[in-house]
Amino acid sequence: MNSHQLFRRSRIRLALWYALVMGAILSLSGLGVYRFLVQANWAAIEREMESIAGTLHDSLEPMLPASEDPIAVLRRILPELCLAAQPCNPQPTLIQRHTTGISDRSIYYLRLFDHHGKLLAFSPNQPPSLPPILDPSPWQTFHAPNGIRYHQFTTILHSAEDQHHGHPPHSHPSWGYLQLGRTLATFDAETQRIQWILLIGFFIALLLVGCSAWWLSGLAMRPIYQSYQQQQQFTANAAHELRSPLASLLATVEAILRMPQVDRQDIQFMLETVERQGRRLSHLITDLLFLTSLEQNSSPKPFQPCCLNDLISDLTEEFLELAAIYEIQLTHQIPNQELYVLGNEAQLYRLVSNLIANALQYTPSGGAVLVDLNADDHIASITVKDTGLGIAPAEQQRIFDRFYRVDGDRSRKTGGTGLGLSIARAIVERHQASIKVESQVDQGATFTVELAKMTPQQSLKPLPSP
Ligand code: ADP
Repeated sequence: MNSHQLFRRSRIRLALWYALVMGAILSLSGLGVYRFLVQANWAAIEREMESIAGTLHDSLEPMLPASEDPIAVLRRILPELCLAAQPCNPQPTLIQRHTTGISDRSIYYLRLFDHHGKLLAFSPNQPPSLPPILDPSPWQTFHAPNGIRYHQFTTILHSAEDQHHGHPPHSHPSWGYLQLGRTLATFDAETQRIQWILLIGFFIALLLVGCSAWWLSGLAMRPIYQSYQQQQQFTANAAHELRSPLASLLATVEAILRMPQVDRQDIQFMLETVERQGRRLSHLITDLLFLTSLEQNSSPKPFQPCCLNDLISDLTEEFLELAAIYEIQLTHQIPNQELYVLGNEAQLYRLVSNLIANALQYTPSGGAVLVDLNADDHIASITVKDTGLGIAPAEQQRIFDRFYRVDGDRSRKTGGTGLGLSIARAIVERHQASIKVESQVDQGATFTVELAKMTPQQSLKPLPSP
């Protein structure tokens, strides 16, 4: 599987997982919302029924004498109800009066039972085929043969004497039962509407989640893909850089081996070539290892106070000999006051020495290199300025990339590995500092490194880790 396919598969897998997790969260939230809405509607229905039944109960009870025949009582006080086992001729109903202001009055029906649970009277709009026997449980829900669901509430009715005259309890605990019912057609329709809305909403949300999952997984994969490509590029570059000196080294060794008679001078010359290439290889490998250890932060030595004045005078002194060979005037300027920064001294030496070495390498004989140390309140800046070949503005960002050379041939001739500025940048990043270059072709280059100056308080505190 090539890397493109691998990244595409990972992206698909990531998007699927994201969509799956989001889908699960959405489904659970949808179910929660659904349950909440249905339960809220259901509770409202039961509250409304209880309230209507309570009003009816309170208005009926004072009109129910225990002594009178219940049928006669009902015929008198509720003429609008149909009486059991008698032809029904309904009038405007009592229930309609008590449900004034409620959404739809025709949805309610009323049934009255005697204390044995035998049906006495009922509203004409009661559901078809309801049994004339009372089921005493307070709440019931059932499906009528017409397919509509109904909900019923049953409450006990006491006779008027029991309540008002404090008579000894009647031989029967109640006068009878009042049953208030309603159709659940509107409730079921509303529930179905909510189901549809949530279902459609869920699929639309899932579609959006799918699209955003694809986009987000692309965003998440991008830096990994870029880093993978950089890694591949780096490996290819490193292999290429290693191959040239190795090939030349092998060729020289082979030539020595094949020569039938070798005179000492030739041998000397060839061995020098072998040594040069060997050194080049060794430099390259050391630089690569150093760069890797910097990027992996594998030697977390605590930062120490480093005196930049000493660092610059030491390094300029060290490079004076090389500058003399190149016939370049190397000078430095440092302030009288000592400037300290917190850092890894060896790495800071390496940073500045890379800049000075480059300045000397890319400045023709007769030129000058100046190393300058300056400071303001918080920042210490080291400037390495040369009068050399300069760098075109278009190249100025790329020179910090690994193995990038403005002019490959020229660099190789000077022995550069193409890693000097990458190492400089990695050191700068580890010290949370900055590096910049200002240059024009043939007008020299100025590299500036800015580091945070050590404050007097820092010198008193324990040293932080890098
Ligand atoms: P190298 O080992 O080739 O010097 P570097 O990473 O140190 O690699 O530098 C990258 C490239 O930047 C060099 O090949 C060179 O072309 C350019 N460069 C660096 N410093 C200077 C400078 N002071 N003047 C001109 N060109 C420079």
